[in-house]
Amino acid sequence: MFIDTHAHIHQHPPDEIADIVVRATEAGVGAIFTAGTTLEDSQNAIDLANIHPGVFAGVGVHPTELEHSLTTKELSILGDLAASPQVVVMSEIGIDHQIRSPDKEWQAESLHAQIGIAREHSLPIVFHIREEGDNYDARSARDATLSILRETSAGELGGTAHYFQGSWDFARQLLDLGFRISFAKTLIRITELEETAINTPVDRILLESDSYPQPFKKNRQKWTEPRDIPLVAEKLASLRGIPATEVQETTTRNALEMLGARAELVKQVLFSG
Ligand SMILES: [Zn+2]
Repeated sequence: MFIDTHAHIHQHPPDEIADIVVRATEAGVGAIFTAGTTLEDSQNAIDLANIHPGVFAGVGVHPTELEHSLTTKELSILGDLAASPQVVVMSEIGIDHQIRSPDKEWQAESLHAQIGIAREHSLPIVFHIREEGDNYDARSARDATLSILRETSAGELGGTAHYFQGSWDFARQLLDLGFRISFAKTLIRITELEETAINTPVDRILLESDSYPQPFKKNRQKWTEPRDIPLVAEKLASLRGIPATEVQETTTRNALEMLGARAELVKQVLFSG
């Protein structure tokens, strides 16, 4: 079975979620990590993980959701959320340098602090990096992220750059720090990503949908869902000239390795028959 290492399925309308999980299972996706983007949303992710056996939670505050640097009180709530048994990753956290994004200082301080919480709870970090527009070579967000990852020795926690859209040069620096690279459906259409998809060691690659409600796509069938993971795997298999089954086995093993001791929870669901 595949693992969708980054999605936001708890944000979908409640009456649709059970069907999304069923469609994922039918497509061979046996576990989904659903990531919170605010404190309240992180609680919602945990609540969903508590009722669906194949769903596990990430907790964190997304950089675009910040209204100030996270306060001591907010960080303490986040710490309590991170201690929930169904939480397997610190996510979604990161850096976002689009023009309308929140203050860069708030973002840097909040990422620092959230990596600290991940360390207290031995959670891998699944992080977001976005530059302005489609300029994949812009350096501001990537340099800010790399310096925080280095200052905090976050590589010791492990984790992954989610929805990776940067250059191979950037990917190589993240790999050197000990992180994994996660690909989504963008791999199918963005040819600039192929170099990274081909060069990243296969045992450092993860797959994700980043599924969230997409009302801007009028046709409901076209919303990205965890069931789309096999399409990303097929693309990766064809780029690397290996069987899709190998991509499935390797990426699932990689995701479980990233979780450390928490992998047991996920294994119980994935390999229960
Ligand atoms: Zn996301």
